Amino acid sequence: AHARSNIGAIDAAHHMHPFSDMKKLNADGTRIIQRAEGVHIFDNHGKKYLDGFAGLWCVNVGYGRKEITDAVMRQMNELPYYNTFFGTTTEPATLLAEKIISHAGPRFSHVFFTGSGSEANDTWFRMARVYWKTLGHPEKKVIISRKNGYHGSTVAGASLGGMKWMHEQGDLPIPGVVHIGQPYWYVEGGDLSPEEFGLRAAGELEEKILELGADKVAAFVAEPIQGAGGVIIPPSTYWPEIARICKKYDILLVNDEVICGFGRLGTWFGHQYYGLEPDLCPIAKGLSSGYLPIGGVMVSKRVADVLINEAGDFNHGFTYSGHPVCAAAALENLRIIEDEKLVERVRDDTGPYFAKAWKSLEDHEVVGQAESVGLMGGLQLAADKTTRRRYAKPEDAGVVVRNHCLKNGLVLRATNDRMLASPPLIITRAEIDELVTTLRGGLDHLRDTMPR
Ligand code: PLP
Repeated sequence: AHARSNIGAIDAAHHMHPFSDMKKLNADGTRIIQRAEGVHIFDNHGKKYLDGFAGLWCVNVGYGRKEITDAVMRQMNELPYYNTFFGTTTEPATLLAEKIISHAGPRFSHVFFTGSGSEANDTWFRMARVYWKTLGHPEKKVIISRKNGYHGSTVAGASLGGMKWMHEQGDLPIPGVVHIGQPYWYVEGGDLSPEEFGLRAAGELEEKILELGADKVAAFVAEPIQGAGGVIIPPSTYWPEIARICKKYDILLVNDEVICGFGRLGTWFGHQYYGLEPDLCPIAKGLSSGYLPIGGVMVSKRVADVLINEAGDFNHGFTYSGHPVCAAAALENLRIIEDEKLVERVRDDTGPYFAKAWKSLEDHEVVGQAESVGLMGGLQLAADKTTRRRYAKPEDAGVVVRNHCLKNGLVLRATNDRMLASPPLIITRAEIDELVTTLRGGLDHLRDTMPR
């Protein structure tokens, strides 16, 4: 199929894009992605790109999986839609809940389905409050989140998120959501070692709890590794300290697994990589590898027991909660991840290989730090790597590298002066080499063109 030649003009006239500068789009024209296969996407001019970002951190099994489209077609023909309200279900929805729980471990018992990661965050937000209310603590309702966290674009999701530029536009956060700092050592660590800084960043949680009163705080939410905030990999001391604090003050721990879930870190879920014991986990993205929209909340036995046996009806749900076609796509996606042992492959093979290749970029003049876990990498650009001084306009530095990579057939994301990678889990060693080599070209270009 060929795109209509005037699709760019139509797009500029009628299509308002998420997170895009529309004025600029109108002038520059839109990139039109036409088809995809494996780890590659192709635009309407036939130009091929290595998708180092798996769409939006989601196409874990890669593109062009006919097994998934076949499963979708079968389900479409048999039952294109039915809901899961009022005690009804469909087979794919139920089997998907069972499958997810089988990988989440014995701590979890139930899944509540949503259409997206944002809705998943709205959902646990209410679950956490219902939980404490039911236990006789209606005042225990504040949610603590982190600066630069990302939890979606709904009103609750954007409130939970710690993106200042999102808050400013929507007069957010809503009451009852407060934020602490992020474990971003490179920029905020000062003279502290990463380990010392990790403890200090986690200590902000304890300070906030003591300031508000533990009897007012329902939950703490964080991504195991902050994704959209820049793949901020926390120092080793951070998570154990957070876990200790949540336990000590009886605060629910919520790990947003929307990016880290389904193999990204070489474990089924990111909290497993860090050995955490969360009470609620929003999921989406890799659950269906983005083939169809579906998300959910994994509910621990602790919370499920109260919600199911004591709280009565949970007055919350979406028309598309457990959509049978989306669930069928997710089931087939998870079957592929299992059968092809993609989680183990990331853990034992491509993850360590990627780590070495990614880390090798630290020898570059404009790279301050290059870290990764599994197939999730964050690379810090620096104007002076000995003093950790940043470029005068950090966001411009990232854009220069990103655009150079794009020109040379590699899609990566830039968050300010951090380059982010999150390729499909099927990426090969040779493709990892290609990714890193092209990125190195982008770094050379930054070094040669932007004054430090
Ligand atoms: N949570 C995290 C950690 C995310 O990265 C995202 C999306 O990028 C979301 C939630 C929101 O998911 P969705 O865009 O499916 O609503």
